[in-house]
Amino acid sequence: MRTSKQYIESLRDGREVYFKGQRVPDVTAHAEIRLAIDHAAIDFEMAESKEHHALAVYEEEGNEFSRYFKLPRTSEDLLLRSQLIQTATALGGTLVVLIKEIGSDALFALHLVAHAIDQHKGTAYLDRVRKFYESVRSHDLALSVAQTDVKGDRSKSPLEQEHPDFYLRIVRETPDGIIVRGAKAHTSVSVNSNEVIVLPTRAMKADEAAYAVAFAIPLNTKGLKLIASSYGAHHQDSNFDFPLASKHRMIETLTVFDDVFVPNERVFLQGEWEFAGELAKTFVEFHRFTAISYKLPLVDALVGSALLMMEYNGLERAKHVQEKLARLISYAETLRALVRLAALDCESGALGIALPRTLIVNMAKLHFATNFHQMLAYVQDIAGGLVVTGPSEADFESPDVGKYIRKYLGGRAGVTVDDRLKAINLVKELTATDFSGYQAVLAIHAEGSIEAEKLAMVREHDSLRCKQLAKQLAGIADAH
Ligand SMILES: Cc1cc2nc3c(=O)[nH]c(=O)nc-3n(C[C@H](O)[C@H](O)[C@H](O)COP(=O)(O)OP(=O)(O)OC[C@H]3O[C@@H](n4cnc5c(N)ncnc54)[C@H](O)[C@@H]3O)c2cc1C
Repeated sequence: MRTSKQYIESLRDGREVYFKGQRVPDVTAHAEIRLAIDHAAIDFEMAESKEHHALAVYEEEGNEFSRYFKLPRTSEDLLLRSQLIQTATALGGTLVVLIKEIGSDALFALHLVAHAIDQHKGTAYLDRVRKFYESVRSHDLALSVAQTDVKGDRSKSPLEQEHPDFYLRIVRETPDGIIVRGAKAHTSVSVNSNEVIVLPTRAMKADEAAYAVAFAIPLNTKGLKLIASSYGAHHQDSNFDFPLASKHRMIETLTVFDDVFVPNERVFLQGEWEFAGELAKTFVEFHRFTAISYKLPLVDALVGSALLMMEYNGLERAKHVQEKLARLISYAETLRALVRLAALDCESGALGIALPRTLIVNMAKLHFATNFHQMLAYVQDIAGGLVVTGPSEADFESPDVGKYIRKYLGGRAGVTVDDRLKAINLVKELTATDFSGYQAVLAIHAEGSIEAEKLAMVREHDSLRCKQLAKQLAGIADAH
């Protein structure tokens, strides 16, 4: 397995990254991107650390591998995977680390769908997927996944668009591979991973076969251009003022494929349009389990900071505060119960791969996403307006005004002003800064938007059971 140092070194590979319009010659030397790299290095540090080694690593035939790459076979595998994701995210200041999480979700889905294509079409994709998987696992690589196409007019299919490149497509096939053109949006951790796995974003029709494409390539492949988002890019060093954003960051790119060559052995779907939707869906179902797992430290932090502010402001007896706290706890613990249930009630798929229960995963994701903003409001309410009007670390340390802050910004007796302001700043980061704005949009859109979760729930629900009960209760004969 690689060390965090080796991981960081591996990113100096000539990849074509742009930040605020400027080419970045070395991502490890760029202050904003370096923050994202150091955040991602948590996954490697966990494997190196005594405390987390047993969780972060698994053994197979005498070799050690990152647990992220363990193909889940049982509920226990899924629970341990979830535990690993939760622990890494907690160490990541409530921000998911993602460099192995999302890629392994894609690898699991590729195994299942490659197997299905081979069965139906006599192709040999599974062999390619397995070789790629073994190489990723043995080299302990960091992965990103580019699924979401830029999509143009959302009401139109790929062929109905103003130009043919709103969805990534194959523009040429050669004996050695394919040439692809298009752009994927919002690709997380692409600036700091080693390989990007590309998947279709939706189902395709027969005349859209060129859009049914999946593959993996290194991030320094010729023609691949990474235009990084600068959202939140005014890095603050003060750990006091910004306890989370000073250390943790994730960066997305508009990922442009400017006629990129992909060798045959790295192509996992090439025109088999009937399987594009299946691949998109299977990836998302694994990925939403990752999502609901990595949300848990965030919701726990919301509950914890509400508890701290309640105590520090002397609000424990206030009825409305207790009511808000009860809602926060119910929100967090419902999510935790659903994550556990999705793993315990897993389905056994092809190749002995265990899939978290799709209905439960989508219920959990919907529950998280649709209530998240209300939970932020409860925490802000309990914490008070200092969340956005409080002094900075520099004021606190100032020989001129520090004494006023210590005198006037106390709360309950016995709580230091220092601790009270630290708790307030945590609430600020969780609910009212760029960091929380990012988390809030992530909550709504990442891993598919809310409507996609509802569709999955309706599709997966055992409606026959309920309909039959309704018929029986109403006295309707079964034949009708
Ligand atoms: C922080 C962040 C990180 C992300 N990371 C990744 C990543 O690593 N890899 C990746 O591939 N993707 C990633 N995503 C993308 C994410 O999956 C998408 O944002 C999500 O699928 C929504 O797509 P969109 O952003 O294009 O929004 P849209 O699809 O435009 O959605 C906007 C609204 O339009 C609605 N809508 C869209 N199409 C239709 C339609 N045909 N009919 C009716 N309503 C419609 C949606 O329901 C929604 O309400 C990330 C997103 C975020 C915010």
